[in-house]
This record gives sequence, structure tokens and C-alpha cells, in this order.
Amino acid sequence: MRALLINPLFPDNYWSQRHALPWVRRSCLIPPLGLITVAAMLPRHWSIDLVDLNVETLDDETIRRADVVMLTGMLAQRDSLHELLGRCRRLGVRTVVGGPYATALPEQFDDADHVVIGEAEELIADLAADLEAGRAERFYREGDKPSLEHTPVPRFDLLKRGAYHHMALQFSRGCPFSCEFCDITTLFGHNPRTKTNAQVIAELDAMRATGFRGEVFFVDDNFIGNKKAVRKLLPDLARWRDANGRCFTFYTEASMNLVQDDALIEAMTRAGFTAAFVCIETPSESALRETHKLQNTRFDLATGVHRLLERGLDVWAGFIIGFDNEGHDIFDRMIRFVQNAAIPYAMIGMLHALPKTKLHERLVGEGRLIEVPKGGDQFGLTNFVTKMDPLTLLRGYKHVLETLYEPSVYFERCKRNLEIWKPTRFAARPRTLVEYGAALRSLLSQGRAEGYRRAYRQFLGWVALKHPTKIGRALGQAIAGHHYITYTRETVIPRLEEQIAELTRAAALQDARTAQAGA
Ligand code: SF4
Repeated sequence: MRALLINPLFPDNYWSQRHALPWVRRSCLIPPLGLITVAAMLPRHWSIDLVDLNVETLDDETIRRADVVMLTGMLAQRDSLHELLGRCRRLGVRTVVGGPYATALPEQFDDADHVVIGEAEELIADLAADLEAGRAERFYREGDKPSLEHTPVPRFDLLKRGAYHHMALQFSRGCPFSCEFCDITTLFGHNPRTKTNAQVIAELDAMRATGFRGEVFFVDDNFIGNKKAVRKLLPDLARWRDANGRCFTFYTEASMNLVQDDALIEAMTRAGFTAAFVCIETPSESALRETHKLQNTRFDLATGVHRLLERGLDVWAGFIIGFDNEGHDIFDRMIRFVQNAAIPYAMIGMLHALPKTKLHERLVGEGRLIEVPKGGDQFGLTNFVTKMDPLTLLRGYKHVLETLYEPSVYFERCKRNLEIWKPTRFAARPRTLVEYGAALRSLLSQGRAEGYRRAYRQFLGWVALKHPTKIGRALGQAIAGHHYITYTRETVIPRLEEQIAELTRAAALQDARTAQAGA
């Protein structure tokens, strides 16, 4: 059998770093880890090709050559995924779709021949055998959540060399918490399952063998979900890193209760972790309670962020606007919080009810769910009737993003971050040529064409004067900031303006109708 594995296109977003990637001469931030893991589970005698539309194009001939096309995708990749499925059907090639989107909404896949619902580990052998025998079923559903202890080393060798800025690795799936809006527990359960230390080390060896050097993202949705297993892993990780010239540094996602565990933070930095994405969501305690994120109500969140920075972990964070319990002051509170907490990269989205979440269930029960408006996603109009009127919400949201990603405000935040952040000696690793090249290109031209060169130079001048040893980190912040600033200006704000104009027109029309009816 000849299988073609395809990763559909991701639309641009705050994570993609699209505007910053040219500085490092890369096409994409991280590789499609799920697909290369599936590739490793397929029978050895199969021939496997991988196409990631985020780094390359795909011609019809490549599709026609395959006996089966296997696709994955998140909800965000929906348009590209369905376009690919349609194309394969027109070309008469059999398709299998899996991944988070197909698992959450399998009924939306009339355009696929076979749908995998859930995690692949225990389904894939049957699916492969059925495909070979020509008797594959329409649906394959996971039974119990599979153990990860037999998940093979992903096929890093299939990745296009030099296309990805970072590498990716997964240690665990699942999260013990119950945040109402989050689909992680629906997809992976509350009991975090982990790989063994030996599996993780084997993956690092495989990654190193490809020649890659640099940053590795532990993609776990909550790396510290199973603290006992993490504590056991970290010393082995530190030993591996020491034995391999500290060729990688690591970053991950973690719940905010990490700040309450100094020993764990220390073990992470000792193992080479330099940053963590934390889900803060909102500075409003009543909104945190509403969304069942009680773990974030037990300490002062800004102090918690500073604690991580002081112990050597840089922080970037996720925020949400649109909870029922937020007042009109939420917009200014959000700006103040992000600025004071000193989080340069703040991913602020609008609350969105994802399928199969508790939030979705509640809103259906309350009759508040609405059709996703065109262009609706977490960076604009949402898919439910909000308590705050939508025009105020959109205007406030726009104000938050415009303010936080105004270059001088962004660089102010970076300064505060650098003042608090204390890197550990374990963070060091040999810099790559790519990183030196990016730094040079940034120094020569960043912000010139976009009109923020002055703010950029003032920032770097300040760092050179006050914290010269942190200049490398400051350049990294400046380069990443280019994406946040440009994406906000060129994509998010114009789209929000369009949506605001549309809502204003609709409100005016409604007023006119009401006035006419009263006359
Ligand atoms: S802590 Fe993070 S991963 Fe866990 S349920 Fe909450 S939002 Fe989801």
C-alpha cells in the first residue's frame, strides 16, 4: 500500500509566527507531530509520503499515486481539510480522516471515506488491515483511552529538512482540570497518560539524528497534569541533555498551579526548560469561577507569573474575553494585567463554545448557541449570544489588542519582562547559525518598513545599557514581536473593524424598523 499523509493548511493566527518566520528563514513553526506519529504506526511494508501544506504545495499527480490519503486536522484547519477531501474524491482516491476535528464532529465528514474517532494507537492496525483487504468500515472509534507506553517514535525522518523552526514532542495526553470551555478533557480525558522516560529519550535521539538543533516544544496541553510522572522524567531529561551538548532547550504548556511548586520549576529549568505557555484566561475572579478554573483563583496571578520569571522560566499566556461575569471594565483590566504581569506574548481570544465541551452543552441548554458567523473564530465574533452586547464586546476587544500590540507598549512590556526574568545557567545552549542570521537581519532592518524602527531601537538601546547580558533574549522578543504587531495590525484589526461596521449597520437598521413600527 502507498499512503499519502497530508497536513492541511493552518490559517494565520497568533501562534503561527508567520510574519517572524522569514527572519529565521523557516516556513513553519512546528511540524505535524500527530501525522508523523501515525506514520510510525502504519505497517512497515507500506510506503509512506508526507505533505505538509504549511511548508509545501501538493499536485494532483502526488494524490493520484496514493492508494489511500490520510488526513488530520484541528477545527482551525477545517476549510483546507474539506477542500483536500473534495479534491481526493474528484481524483478517485480513497481517504481516511482523523484528528481533533474529526473526533469532535465526525458527522461533518460525508466527504471522507473513513473516519477515525479518537486516538489512533489501538485502531490503526485494524484500519490498515481492513484497507489492505478492501473492507474498511466507515467509522473507527476508540474504546478505552489507549496507553501511550507503546506509542512508537514519530517518523521525524519524513519531515522536510530545514522547514521547521522548532521540533515537537509529546509526553502526556489529558488534564486533571475541568475548565468549562476546554476540549482537551473531552478529547483526552481527565487522567493524564504519559510515555515512559525511555520513549522520550528515544524521541530526542531520533530528533537529534536528523541534525536539528534548537528549541523543542513539549506539545502536552498540560505538561504538569501528571506531576508524579513529570518529576520522574525531568532528571533523565537533564542527564540526556548534559550528555548531548545541551543541543536543545525545551518549552511547553502548563497549568498555572505550576507557580506553587518551586521544586518542580527548578527541576524543569535544570532539565533545560526555558519557557512555559500558561492558561491564565482572565484577571476577573468571578469569570474564573464561572468557567470552573478554580486553580487560578488560589493566588495572585501576576505575582505567579513573576515567580516563574524569577526562577528562569519565561512566560507566555492565553487569555479569553467574553465570559458572562465580566463587566465593562474588563478591557482596561486585561490591558493593565498583561502589562503588569510582564507577558510580552499574550494570546487574547474571544470565548468560543467548542463542540462537546461543557460550555457548549450549557449554552445549548440555555438556548444561546448561534450559527458561527462567517469568519467567526476566537479572534472575532463568537458563536453564542453574549451577556455583554456584541458591539461593546468587539469594540472593547479591538481596543485591548490595538493597545497591547502598539509597538511602544509591546516593548515596554518586554523591558519589564527582562527586568524580572533571571535566566538559569542551564538555559544556555550553543546558538545556531540560523539564530545569528535572524538577529543580524533584525538589527539591520526590523521595524523600518512598518514604522516602528524608533521604538525598536529605543528598546534595544535600553537593554544594551541596563541588561547587556540579556540582549540575545531581547532580540528574540523583538523578532517574535514582529509577528504579533503585524498580525494584529494587518489581519485582526481590519477584520474586527469589518465586523463592527456590520453590527453597527444591523443595529441602525433595527432601530429604523422599530421607529417605523412605532410611527
Ligand atoms: S488547565 Fe488548561 S488544558 Fe487543563 S482543562 Fe484547563 S484549559 Fe484545558
